[in-house]
Amino acid sequence: MSIKSVNPANGQVVKIYKTHTDEQVADRIKQTHDAWLKWRKSDSSLRANLLRKLAEVLNKRKSELAELMAVEMGKPVKQGASEIEKCATVCEYYADNAAKFLKEQLIETEAQKSYVTFNPLGVVLAVMPWNFPFWQVFRFLAPALAAGNCGVLKHASNVPGCALVIEDMVREAGFPDNVFQTLLAVNTQVDAIIENEHIKAVTLTGSTNAGIKVAQKAGSVLKKSVLELGGSDAYIILEDADLELAASTCTDSRLINSGQSCIAAKRFIVVESVADKFTALMLKKMESKRVGDPLKQETEVGPQARVDLRNELHEQVQKSVAAGAKCILGGTVPEGENAFYPPTILTNVKKGMPAYDEELFGPVAAIIVAKDEAEAIDIANDSVFGLGGAIFTQDVKRGEHLAANNLEAGSCFVNSLVKSDPRLPFGGIKQSGYGRELGMFGIHEFVNIKTVYIK
Ligand code: NDP
Repeated sequence: MSIKSVNPANGQVVKIYKTHTDEQVADRIKQTHDAWLKWRKSDSSLRANLLRKLAEVLNKRKSELAELMAVEMGKPVKQGASEIEKCATVCEYYADNAAKFLKEQLIETEAQKSYVTFNPLGVVLAVMPWNFPFWQVFRFLAPALAAGNCGVLKHASNVPGCALVIEDMVREAGFPDNVFQTLLAVNTQVDAIIENEHIKAVTLTGSTNAGIKVAQKAGSVLKKSVLELGGSDAYIILEDADLELAASTCTDSRLINSGQSCIAAKRFIVVESVADKFTALMLKKMESKRVGDPLKQETEVGPQARVDLRNELHEQVQKSVAAGAKCILGGTVPEGENAFYPPTILTNVKKGMPAYDEELFGPVAAIIVAKDEAEAIDIANDSVFGLGGAIFTQDVKRGEHLAANNLEAGSCFVNSLVKSDPRLPFGGIKQSGYGRELGMFGIHEFVNIKTVYIK
């Protein structure tokens, strides 16, 4: 079997990779397990030093990695370079903080001594998507290695070059052999990987469907899983919002990674009295974005990652329009062998339309009008997803109250776009998944939180 990498900007095959057979996959997992038997005993300062080296390697190879992403999945190079810098930051963050997060925690009882200690679990399987081919992997990998775990990666089948270069960089940074390996495997091989006796846990970032399949398998063999799935983040624009700020932040968030981000703003819920003004401002900002060759520095929106995904998105737009939505920008498929889709705005979006009910994983903004604050919150929560959300208001106390108490989502921001940050926990509720990545909560997902009691 083989995995083909195709440039979404022009449809050309970049490279064909031979997949690992089931036997090769099992051998690699065994090698990583053997590496873990030593790595688990390594000193925290050694792990921290190696993570700092890995950050240096990432920064050194930034341009090459940004170009690789552009060619394999269409990310504009400027955004690719920022993604690599963020990967370096997460390595440094856990180099600086892991020992503190994993320090024994004394708990007073009637015992002579009782405390909690954090032991690594072993080899963790990461099933990762193509949209942030490095960041999604590093936000798992940095805390995993820092905690004394090892990892194997089954990356999305359109980014095999990115998958292999991560393994290469871990080696270049000086980590012991095999503490991290890439498996060139297809998704039908994942069940057997989860069943492998040396795999102790699994983390998946991707669609809800893939998450359900992996969670079912992991559950059937009682292995811990963390799932970071899709979202349909609602951005609420209240009547007292700074509309200029709201429109530019909403546009930037909707167009992150050419619209292909789990935490991109997807539904814009605007209070009636400011709806026309907000829509006009957003139209101006969305149409001003430069769409084009992802290899050019000035490009702001590249192609979608694959033609099939672009076509699915267009179908969602067409179905929404057929059900009564109005397309005031974009909404057409460009000619030629490519996966481009233009920045698009749908207004008059209502329940029952794909633009209201489903995740639109591309540069399509769905504007929904609400009578008032209460109705806006109801609409925001009327979703199977619960990843992120934002509120725009000049009354910061009002915004904070709604963010902290009323929105059903894993991250709620006020007057800002939702973003992941190594210091803050990240994850969702409902069909957006469970468990948390990043921060202290993230490193505690894949450890044995062990109670020690001395009478
Ligand atoms: P998938 O969820 O299918 O892919 C994500 C990862 O899961 C890939 O490594 C994929 O492997 C793997 N995978 C897929 N199906 C299974 C399975 N049955 N068992 C085990 N592993 C599996 O995403 P797509 O690329 O198909 O994108 C579809 C949609 O998913 C998007 O339109 C978007 O809505 C959502 N998505 C969400 C992301 C997020 O960040 N939350 C990221 C990417 C997509 P393989 O590539 O070999 O199929």
